Amino acid sequence: MNPTTYLWNPSPVLSLPVRGRTERYPIHRLFFVGRNYHAHAVEMGRPVDKSVEVPFYFTKAPSTLVESGATVAYPPGTKDYQHEMELVLAIGAPGFRVGEAHAHELIYGYACGLDMTRRDLQLIAREKGRPWDLGKDVEESSVVSEIVPMPGTVLDKGALAMNVNGAQRQASDLSKLIWNIPELIADLSKFYHLQPGDLIFTGTPEGVGPVQSGDRIEGRIDGVGTITLEVGPAE
Ligand code: MN
Repeated sequence: MNPTTYLWNPSPVLSLPVRGRTERYPIHRLFFVGRNYHAHAVEMGRPVDKSVEVPFYFTKAPSTLVESGATVAYPPGTKDYQHEMELVLAIGAPGFRVGEAHAHELIYGYACGLDMTRRDLQLIAREKGRPWDLGKDVEESSVVSEIVPMPGTVLDKGALAMNVNGAQRQASDLSKLIWNIPELIADLSKFYHLQPGDLIFTGTPEGVGPVQSGDRIEGRIDGVGTITLEVGPAE
């Protein structure tokens, strides 16, 4: 039996460092929760009524993943590249149609994340009822810190804050999530067979805004860690 050969070198396995471990966390998929903090939903002009609404999601290609500490190009096609600081949930066990009471069993740990967004293109797409891909599925736009192992732990509080060049932009608390961690796992697993390596960006609080080439972003979530990103020149 000959080993499989390829026309060119296959893409490497995408992964993130894990605090306290030499093994890395291999990435499967990147899920993102839309509007999951009331004040952000309001600033986007789309308030959320949890009594009649359900969460919604978008995905980005895993190849958009960038590690904290990177310098990324200001991306093409936008004049309004924006930061969204988020708690990232790292899945560590498979689950499909998981009840809220069992949702914690899927949790491997957490990380800090930045869901970088071409806001101008996202809003055009939203207005026209088109997919968000050009606004959201941006190369180098899924920034994630090291994964912090907390198997089975439901995070339900903790301050989240970020600044650009030292000036605070976003500050909130995980207790303000509209749909909490067990509710998100239960809901998303109605539609997907969640698997180890799936990351769920849980949504951003208010204070999103633009970045420019040369900006330095710093973020932190109490009990999780920190994240940094430098925005380089436009391509
Ligand atoms: Mn987001």
